[in-house]
Amino acid sequence: MSDKTFAKIKLAAFFKSKLNIFMLVLIVLLTSALCVSSTYLYKRTKKVQAVSASYSEEQRRLDEAKKEIEEIKSQLEQEQKNNGDLKAQLEQKENEKKQLEEKVSGLQSEIEQLKAKKEQEQASVVPAPAPAVPPASKVCYLTFDDGPSDNTLRILDILARYNAKATFFVTCNGKPEYMKNIHTAGHTIGLHTASHNYAALYASTDAYFADLQQVSDMVKSQTGVESKIIRFPGGGSNLISQKYCPGIMSQLVVMTAERGYYYFDWNVSSEDAAASRVRADIIVNNVLTQAKNKNSICVLMHDEAAKTTTADALPAIIEGLTAMGYRFEALNETSYGYHHSVKN
Ligand SMILES: [Zn+2]
Repeated sequence: MSDKTFAKIKLAAFFKSKLNIFMLVLIVLLTSALCVSSTYLYKRTKKVQAVSASYSEEQRRLDEAKKEIEEIKSQLEQEQKNNGDLKAQLEQKENEKKQLEEKVSGLQSEIEQLKAKKEQEQASVVPAPAPAVPPASKVCYLTFDDGPSDNTLRILDILARYNAKATFFVTCNGKPEYMKNIHTAGHTIGLHTASHNYAALYASTDAYFADLQQVSDMVKSQTGVESKIIRFPGGGSNLISQKYCPGIMSQLVVMTAERGYYYFDWNVSSEDAAASRVRADIIVNNVLTQAKNKNSICVLMHDEAAKTTTADALPAIIEGLTAMGYRFEALNETSYGYHHSVKN
């Protein structure tokens, strides 16, 4: 048998075995399936790995974002806290501002009050100009120096009887308790100095003002009135003062005005000081005689314990002057001064 024949026989034998063919096909199919499956699994694993990596990345970013949010939140809380603090500070400052404003306003009103007071004081220091001429109408200013005394109440009774007002230039020597009676009755209290001691009060301008202040304080304590009406002991024309201080009257007439006082002399003298007790009819005659041919008069009399005749003379003086057309008024700061010419 030839080789060719032998191969044919062998192949035929082989194909005769269908099982073998089936097995072969199965092996080929299984191998192919395995290959496809492996490839698919590989790809799938790769994809899972990629998604997993992506997930991790996203997770990391999420964590970072969360962290950032926490930080921002904490910053926000801090800011809110700071804002709260600032708000409290602002409120405190506003309160302080309000208090300061109130204080400033209080101080401003105090300043205004002080200014007004100062202006008032300055105004009171600069006296209003006294009338340069005596009043044209018939007016009589009765003045009583050196009281109050044991005669004061009697004088007040007589004045009340005639409804006449007068002026009392007082000292601290007699009965200061009667100052109230004079004031209550509506008369003017003028200052005549406390001591009426020429040697002491005309020693210097300082001595004069110290003495004047004493009587001013006494009048104020007795009546509540701070009088600016004054009369120099001996009058503005006195020469006695020259013995103690040359030129003092010239200084005092200026200085008293600068300090807000108004001084008054007289143009009719009752001459009741000519003796310790001048007869009443002489006193009456002195006054009525000097009152003739005058429009207005300022009459000098005295209110001293010893001078009972002055009070005795008073009704006749008032009646006589009334008959001459005079009315009786008390001096005030706007009255004419009846100044004498200053000789010292
Ligand atoms: Zn006197």
